[in-house]
Amino acid sequence: MYGGEIIKLAANPKSIWKVRWDVPSESNPSKSYVVAQDGDGAFGCSCPRWIFGRHQCKHINRVAREIQTGRPALKATVIPYSSEPISLKELSRASFVEV
Ligand SMILES: [Zn+2]
Repeated sequence: MYGGEIIKLAANPKSIWKVRWDVPSESNPSKSYVVAQDGDGAFGCSCPRWIFGRHQCKHINRVAREIQTGRPALKATVIPYSSEPISLKELSRASFVEV
């Protein structure tokens, strides 16, 4: 599904996200970032590295690596369909039905 180290990043801060993962921060375990994937398979993250620079961050790397290896440690949560693109900041505040 993912070729080598190539990870597709979402181009826009807002998208129709399909799946989310809550990735704990390494520096502050009480905090976590939301990594999400849209319908094109592109990733975004709620951390400053992605929000402000659109850079591939360690949270996205971690999720992509888990998907690649087929050994998910983090739980994927399916996001209920919404017709409006939303930002990951809004997403991180929203509550979701766990599937
Ligand atoms: Zn991140």
